[in-house]
Amino acid sequence: MSGNKINDLAGYSTWWRYVKLYRCNLCNRSFNQNLNLTLHRRMHTGERPYSCDVCGWTFTQKSNFTVHQRIHTGNRFEDENRGGVNIC
Ligand SMILES: [Zn+2]
Ligand SMILES: [Zn+2]
Repeated sequence: MSGNKINDLAGYSTWWRYVKLYRCNLCNRSFNQNLNLTLHRRMHTGERPYSCDVCGWTFTQKSNFTVHQRIHTGNRFEDENRGGVNIC
């Protein structure tokens, strides 16, 4: 089965030729994942599917939205930790 190994090596060295690039037709930037292109295109369309219930701020990406929500959830553990060092 050494022939398979050689084929694998050859395939590995040329795999990138078969990676489909997703190109934005508005600014010509290319992305290796369709998801990345989708997220990027929201920048052009202004689509912001994630909106904060508390302050109404909108986000294009869920990760940014999640980070933002921490300021409302009252999770001030880090701040208390920092300020609490000198207490006691
Ligand atoms: Zn674009
Ligand atoms: Zn908010």
